[in-house]
Amino acid sequence: INKVLEINHVKKHFEVGKGAWLKAVDNVSFHINEGETFGLVGESGCGKSTTGRLIMRLYQPTEGEVLYKGKNIHLLNKREQFAFNRKIQMIFQDPYASLNPRSTVQEIISEPMEVHGLFKNKEERRQRVYELLEDVGLNREHANRYPHEFSGGQRQRIGIARSLALDPEFIIADEPISALDVSVQAQVVNLLKKLQKEKKLTFLFIAHDLSMVKHISDRIGVMYLGHLVELTSSSNLYKNPLHPYTQALLSAIPIPDPEIEDKRERIILKGEIPSPINPPSGCVFRTRCPAAIDICQSKIPEWKEIEEEHFVACHLYNNHPGMNKEALLTSG
Ligand code: SF4
Ligand code: MG
Repeated sequence: INKVLEINHVKKHFEVGKGAWLKAVDNVSFHINEGETFGLVGESGCGKSTTGRLIMRLYQPTEGEVLYKGKNIHLLNKREQFAFNRKIQMIFQDPYASLNPRSTVQEIISEPMEVHGLFKNKEERRQRVYELLEDVGLNREHANRYPHEFSGGQRQRIGIARSLALDPEFIIADEPISALDVSVQAQVVNLLKKLQKEKKLTFLFIAHDLSMVKHISDRIGVMYLGHLVELTSSSNLYKNPLHPYTQALLSAIPIPDPEIEDKRERIILKGEIPSPINPPSGCVFRTRCPAAIDICQSKIPEWKEIEEEHFVACHLYNNHPGMNKEALLTSG
């Protein structure tokens, strides 16, 4: 398996006043394998969109590095930047706001091709737009219409077609279905899965809850207040969630089977998410954690692999065998 993207100890802090910093992303590390779907999950303000923007090169990290195929994407020269911008594309949350209402579908989808000088011939570009429309379940008759003539789901398909126009390798989908009717969410997710297979894409799928991410992700990272708190395969996260925050997120997903739903304990978190400008000391989740212990107030839990491919940052697992192994290794 090839790591296509590596995020190493990345921080993104914004100055929001004199000496006041908003720690949107605070020492986050993970990688994404080529061809996989990586789900990044957390409530609003957890830093997941900021992480997406760092990967898009819309932000410079305050500290740490983002590598794409081994190259630091924030240190590229102009030519490399242009090539990189072609490989990485984004699908946005709001299919209403992300399409220019005064442009036809044809213009919207060909714009990136014009910017990148692909298909200088207008007729070739037109043909390419027809192909892309078919790829996303629309057709050439839609090319001369305007965004307002389409439903939310169709508009998101247009946004997806635009994201594919430059034949990208890596797609960041930032809550691509949360603005859509529940009835069309699954259709859009199935479309993304189909396109991923056909075009061998790697996906970063950003979402605020685990319900849909569960079905499409190979691995999932859970974020809270700028920190990554747990990361493992999608199936393992559902079978064996270790972080109290992950457990709460999972317990919030409705289960269609009423027999299980009735017996299940729902974990309700107390209080609100604290401000990222003034996060709690120690573990950032401690003010809402039902399992907090003394040490949580003073010490930031370390990010550790406590079983194979299962990372968690929580003091409850300090004495886990996997942790001891590491302690033994470091003490020589
Ligand atoms: Fe809860 Fe402490 Fe674990 Fe944080 S470190 S999640 S406060 S038990
Ligand atoms: Mg967001």
